[in-house]
Amino acid sequence: MLRIIALGGYAEMGRNMTAVFWNDQGVILDCGLHLENYIRLTEEDDLKVMSTKLLQQEGAIADLTPLGKDRKKILAIVPSHAHLDHIGGLPYLESKFDAPIICTPFTAAVLRGMVGDNKSGRGGNGRGELRNDIITVQPGASHKLTEDITIEFIRATHSTPHTATIAIHTPDGVVIYANDFKFDLHPTLGPKPDFARLKALGKAGVKAFICESTYSNLEQRMPSESIAKQMLEDILLGLDHKNKAIIVTTFSSHIARLRAICDCAKKIHRTPLIVGRSLSRYIAAAEECGITSFKDAEVVRYSSKAARRLRKVLAEGKEKYVLVVTGHQGEPRAILSRMVSEQIDWRFDPNDCVIFSCKVIPTPTNEANRARLESRLRDFNVRFFKDIHVSGHAAREDLREMLTMLKPEHLFASHGDKKMQAGLASLAAEEHMQKVHLLANGGQMELA
Ligand SMILES: [Zn+2]
Repeated sequence: MLRIIALGGYAEMGRNMTAVFWNDQGVILDCGLHLENYIRLTEEDDLKVMSTKLLQQEGAIADLTPLGKDRKKILAIVPSHAHLDHIGGLPYLESKFDAPIICTPFTAAVLRGMVGDNKSGRGGNGRGELRNDIITVQPGASHKLTEDITIEFIRATHSTPHTATIAIHTPDGVVIYANDFKFDLHPTLGPKPDFARLKALGKAGVKAFICESTYSNLEQRMPSESIAKQMLEDILLGLDHKNKAIIVTTFSSHIARLRAICDCAKKIHRTPLIVGRSLSRYIAAAEECGITSFKDAEVVRYSSKAARRLRKVLAEGKEKYVLVVTGHQGEPRAILSRMVSEQIDWRFDPNDCVIFSCKVIPTPTNEANRARLESRLRDFNVRFFKDIHVSGHAAREDLREMLTMLKPEHLFASHGDKKMQAGLASLAAEEHMQKVHLLANGGQMELA
């Protein structure tokens, strides 16, 4: 008998966590942070030493109460990729389980980096180590968990490397978990999605499919990451930035985007200077896993050194660098906000160029933070460019393609609020699917 328990991400975007049981053998899929609730507490998106109870009370991580005694039956924790809304809860919650963490190498490297930072008392659980072992599995490979259960990591495209669509093979059928993905036919880093494998699984029969619903109401095919690269090139290579600063801010985990920014910098004969702790952590993980190299860039990790290095940039000449900094959502403690508020010694000149290679994640905190940041930037008369970005999430037509390929018997809508989940349900209805389930956090369902 298969059973699905919704723990987080079934009423919101964030704190993704789902449990899948086959009889008495359980697997946890993802263990994420709700970033809005987390940043409201901490004013930054990096992990800090925090009480697990407080984070649960504030809705920043999942509440494990619905698991009850089944918590002891969890045999593996399987994060699908390295985004904080999928792994950020692990430093606080993994010790509640006695089960290995099984994931792709990049996800493992980011997790180790995140927890390793705790040794200095900066983040996570404050212990500096995880209770459970990490087992790495290459994208495209499988791990036999027990005689009955095998966990497969299917290559997916998303906005961070080594993202996997997870298949849990059990004697009562396959459960597939695509949280998050998009179908990118022209990725700028890493392979295309493994369509052949998805089709083969669909042909053999999929018992249940747990699918992200974030952009289920966006009636389009999500554009490729190669489009975002072109948008960056248009600004960096196509405009006159003579003697002006170029400052780019983007998601720290978006290695493909960071690589594209560095490639552009090279073409205009500037050195990429990457500043910020979370940026440096993801870059170190990408290099460790051989995903790409940032040897052509200079990476400044610590904020104490950031101020000194940026002063030196002013002395050497802004035109020698493309600065890549944290703070795309206007987080008050990130580098860009501190440059703007003059907590870091920096001088903005008219027509300096600031590129937001991201979109504002539409939450009240982010919107207020970004509005404050943009208003200060306007005071400096800089040119700024917003939304130089394409999303890593599936839009409605990507989702339709996935449903058509997998033809699941049961569909569960995850990673979204009620409206987003309803969007996926309406799409499923268009595809004549009968068994569509909109669980709430804490809800569960047995599959006959
Ligand atoms: Zn993601």
